[in-house]
Amino acid sequence: MKAEIVSTGTELLLGETLNTSAHFLTGKLSALGIEVDYHTTIGDNPERLEQVLRQAIGRTDLLVTTGGLGPTVDDLTKELVAKVLDLKMELDPSSLEHIKQFFGRRKAPMPLNNEKQAYFPKGSKILPNHIGTAPGAIIEKNGKTVIILPGPPFEMTPMFDNYVWPVLQQKIEPDVERMNERVLKVFGMGESAIEEVLADLMGLPNLSMALLAKRAEMHIRLVVRSSKISEEAEEVLNRTEEEIRRRLGNKVFGRDQETMIGIVGQLLKNEQLTIATAESCTGGLLGAALTQEPGSSEFYLGGVVSYANSLKQGLLGVSAESLNKYGAVSEEVAKEMAAGIRSKAGSDLAISTTGIAGPDGGSAQKPVGLVYVGLAAPEGIQAEKIQLYGERESVRQLTVQAALNRVRVHMLNSERRIQSGDG
Ligand code: AMP
Ligand code: MG
Repeated sequence: MKAEIVSTGTELLLGETLNTSAHFLTGKLSALGIEVDYHTTIGDNPERLEQVLRQAIGRTDLLVTTGGLGPTVDDLTKELVAKVLDLKMELDPSSLEHIKQFFGRRKAPMPLNNEKQAYFPKGSKILPNHIGTAPGAIIEKNGKTVIILPGPPFEMTPMFDNYVWPVLQQKIEPDVERMNERVLKVFGMGESAIEEVLADLMGLPNLSMALLAKRAEMHIRLVVRSSKISEEAEEVLNRTEEEIRRRLGNKVFGRDQETMIGIVGQLLKNEQLTIATAESCTGGLLGAALTQEPGSSEFYLGGVVSYANSLKQGLLGVSAESLNKYGAVSEEVAKEMAAGIRSKAGSDLAISTTGIAGPDGGSAQKPVGLVYVGLAAPEGIQAEKIQLYGERESVRQLTVQAALNRVRVHMLNSERRIQSGDG
């Protein structure tokens, strides 16, 4: 099955809004084995939109549109799809009721314009919108399928997952090729180092492996093509994942949807450990990361942003001697910051960051990007020296990831120690 995505909205052509929907939908369709041949982005102009829809419906089996379902006159998608498919527009009473209730809950009268959102090309299967007022629709005619979805991504993605995905899954023939995908996420190893270690796995006939460099991580993307019954593909992915983990060890921190902070939070929760932070060059970003996910209060106690030396001394008890002798960006100070916040917060673990984020402030001995990450734990206090590269924001973000990774590696190592101690 061949597909085409038409994204509507003048804001997409003005560079105001990034077309994230095309990205999302292409990923989903590819995962189903549906080949996406074209992305078209088109402004809210009736003539050009009609032309684009006519062309798309003419050359593809499945057309997915996003946007243009609003109540205003520039929202035209349904009307023009109906015109191109030669269908009349028809009121759907239950959608109208739903829209009225939506306004009722907000104690506001429904503007007359919104009635338009309850009209659909005749014969549409209507897709409810639990978040906004614009329902979507699936229309089938002459062997063609048109799927109409709303513009706001937070309305479009749940509608796709709940109502479109199951329909498409039924539609694809059982023998169609599918892409079975797995992503392994690596921290602390560059592209060529990974390539060197995995070179022989990269040439296997039934498996494709690609390395994708992200800001702070490397992603190893594995794809196995198979028929719809994909147990065999799962098996190949499992075996490959196992082999990659064996070779890269705990440089692999997660897979697929897993994130560094998610993994670190899970490890802390599992061990029932608490953590606190003392931040200099990250200015609170580490605390922000640690509070990103719900449930973070189970492990994160809080922290101090001690940017000035006076706060490093006053709040954390960093010694004037260390600051004078080694400077704020030093192993000593990183250790004292971590130890200081650990004792103030009464946490099991504490992590600190101090570094030169740039662009100014570097020297020959302490170049921009030099960062120390301190970790205080019951087992002792250590600090890691890291040299990062890039502009200020990169250095700060990478420091956060490095600090989280420090915690992760520490916990994996102490876990192993406990296990081997038991055995
Ligand atoms: P619409 O349903 O066309 O009125 O779109 C409503 C809003 O959704 C727009 O103002 C955009 O902010 C957002 N939006 C629409 N299309 C997209 C898209 N393809 N990707 C990301 N955001 C979008
Ligand atoms: Mg729009």
